Amino acid sequence: MVRVVVDTMLGNLARWLRVLGVDTEYSRRFTDSEILSNAFREGRAVVTKDLGLHRRALRLGLRSVYIPPDTTDVAEMLVIVARELGLSIEFDKGNTRCPICNTKLSIVSKAQVSTIVPPEVLNKYDTFWYCPKCHKVYWQGNHWKTISYIIEKARSKLNRVNTS
Ligand SMILES: [Zn+2]
Repeated sequence: MVRVVVDTMLGNLARWLRVLGVDTEYSRRFTDSEILSNAFREGRAVVTKDLGLHRRALRLGLRSVYIPPDTTDVAEMLVIVARELGLSIEFDKGNTRCPICNTKLSIVSKAQVSTIVPPEVLNKYDTFWYCPKCHKVYWQGNHWKTISYIIEKARSKLNRVNTS
C-alpha cells in the first residue's frame, strides 16, 4: 500500500487522501527537509505543489507527485495522485483514516457511541467511526453528500483518463 507525505500547501488534499484510506503524513509546519526525510524514513511518496521540492525528491530517488500550481480542484488533484501512484479512488468504510490525525478509524456500534452522539444522529445513521487518537466520532452526515459527489467526480475523471 502506497504511503504519502504531503506538502504544507496541500492540507485539503491530505484530508481527502486520509478519508480514502491512504496513509498520509501532513503538517502545516513541515519544512522541505522534514518532508524529504520523512519520505526516506517511512518509504513515503512525496506529493507537492512545489516544483523545486518535487525535483529534489526525484534527485534523491524518492517517488514524487507534482501537482501543477493551477490545479485548485481537489477532485483533479486526487486524479493526478491516483494516476501517478496507481491508487484507486474508492471509499471503503473498513479502510478510512481520521482526516485530522491520520489514525485508522474503527467502525463502532450505535451502542458504543450512544452517550457521545446526539440522539437524532444516532437514529438517522447506521455506521459510526471512532478515532482512538483524537476520540472523535464520525458519521456520514450532511457533508457526506459533498464528499461522495467529489469522490464520484474524481472516479469518473480517472476512468476517462484510463480509457483514452
Ligand atoms: Zn484522529
